[in-house]
Amino acid sequence: MNGLPLKPGATLGVLGGGQLARMWSHAAQSLGYRSAVLDPDPHSPAGLISHAHIQTGYLDPQGLAQMASLCAAVTTEFENVPAEALAQLQQLVPVAPGPSAVRVAQDRALEKAHFVRCGVPVAPHRVLHDASELAQVQDDLLPGILKTTRLGYDGKGQAQVNNRAELAAAFTQLQNADPSVVCILEKRLPLAAECSVVLARGADGHTVHLPLQTNLHRGGILAVTEVFDAALPAATESLAIQSADDIARQLDYTGVLCVEFFLLQDGSEKDTLGPLVVNEIAPRPHNSGHHSINSCDVSQFELQVRCMAGLPLTMPRLHSPCVMLNLLGDLWLPHGDSPLEPDWAAVLALPGAHLHLYGKTEARRGRKMGHLTLTAAGIAEARQTALKAAGILGIAPW
Ligand code: ADP
Ligand code: MG
Repeated sequence: MNGLPLKPGATLGVLGGGQLARMWSHAAQSLGYRSAVLDPDPHSPAGLISHAHIQTGYLDPQGLAQMASLCAAVTTEFENVPAEALAQLQQLVPVAPGPSAVRVAQDRALEKAHFVRCGVPVAPHRVLHDASELAQVQDDLLPGILKTTRLGYDGKGQAQVNNRAELAAAFTQLQNADPSVVCILEKRLPLAAECSVVLARGADGHTVHLPLQTNLHRGGILAVTEVFDAALPAATESLAIQSADDIARQLDYTGVLCVEFFLLQDGSEKDTLGPLVVNEIAPRPHNSGHHSINSCDVSQFELQVRCMAGLPLTMPRLHSPCVMLNLLGDLWLPHGDSPLEPDWAAVLALPGAHLHLYGKTEARRGRKMGHLTLTAAGIAEARQTALKAAGILGIAPW
């Protein structure tokens, strides 16, 4: 592409103004770019710290036109932004990732079909369009998890179903709320662990990745991420990275992509890991990669900026093993509904504590308010300080 790499002073844009866009904006600004955010919320975390904040809906023609005229390149911070908005912008300005990749990532059925095409194992599943298809569900998909194919995140739009009666009830409930909803029933797999790979792929196909992350979810929301060398057997790590690369390449992907995996239990022997199964992709920087700001020599947000600006991608090096804790609104609400500020001074007295608060004024249960990364010379030490921080904040030990 002509005009690349973009010169400092150029404006980079993002659709969506949440915490991901805020941390991306920090990275863009530290490389000398101006940042522009399109988000209808006047108090959006990224809007508050960007050079320009266009406050319109994602499909507003004037908002999109303004974005295109301001920006030399545009990205998105979440997959539920209408792919149509990206498609419209793409007529006027380079967009990464492109709308076709985002379309796949925002629909669990298309996503699963893509994984199958790439030859990466997935959970047994079946797409359900209407109630008449329930009778055709094979017995071995139960117990399962019923998920809406679109708009689910942080465990929302999902129901655990143990038998056919529960499946029918959950499906009816979802369809009553939205008659056009399409669902996917996934077999509930016996998980030994969860992990993710965050990669960045340039327009020329050159791909780099963060070190593999192991993730603990609670109630469908990421709670704890740990990153250290050889967290998983070398063969598992390289399979995860190779699978993530294949998934990105076959989407002709440009930008930062996260691929989430399940590691299954091996039924035969305790403490050995079973097969790796891909769960889902996020076409953007991901919560499990937030640690990279403090633990790696290049962060996932800087990688996204480099992809957009046509700058070189270097392989991130983990300089500090770390544990990342998500800080949900619950921590502000230990006594019911009257919010109480957590004791940040006590947390910041811990060595290697890196606190990131997203500037959200209202704490709500389950709302991501910030994250805390604990870095150390070794993972044992990082875990120890993370457990101390968890104790101070009221996060249950893991
Ligand atoms: P979201 O888009 O909300 O992140 P996921 O599909 O990643 O949705 O599900 C959230 C979490 O629920 C996963 O990280 C995992 O802990 C659990 N989960 C999802 N699908 C399955 C499955 N098929 N078997 C077992 N656990 C699952
Ligand atoms: Mg997920």
